[in-house]
Amino acid sequence: MEKYKNIGLKLTPQRLAILDFLEGNTSHPSAEEIFTAVSGRFPTMSFATVYNTLETLKGKGAVVELTGDPQKKRFDPNTAPHHHLICTRCRRIADVQVDYKIDLPRSSRMGFEITGNHIEFFGVCPACRKGGPEKTGSGAQTPGEENHED
Ligand SMILES: [Zn+2]
Ligand SMILES: [Zn+2]
Repeated sequence: MEKYKNIGLKLTPQRLAILDFLEGNTSHPSAEEIFTAVSGRFPTMSFATVYNTLETLKGKGAVVELTGDPQKKRFDPNTAPHHHLICTRCRRIADVQVDYKIDLPRSSRMGFEITGNHIEFFGVCPACRKGGPEKTGSGAQTPGEENHED
């Protein structure tokens, strides 16, 4: 929470609830998921407040926007350099803290000064490999495809 106090964001109770939810959160939530979580405590919270707060935090470098999920933006409060494991079935994103030494040859840099990199590993998470995410054993739910919209 300390890092958020130093970025010049006016901390309204609603914004604090958003920051509180993001603090230490490793689930890489979407704006929709953040809204669902915090609007339980703040019924007057609007999606625009969540979205605008995320945009402000992103602009100040306090959260990172992930683009690996084509269906929705996901946000990562962990701004330290790290990589990601992405489940192609349930879209779960897990952190990879291995420090890869990746060197882009000068001839391939197109004149860029390289300041970082981000690797996305795609695969199927343990829950999905077992047959579905969050399957509790009772077999009532159909796992997997609920995020599909066409
Ligand atoms: Zn999965
Ligand atoms: Zn992450």
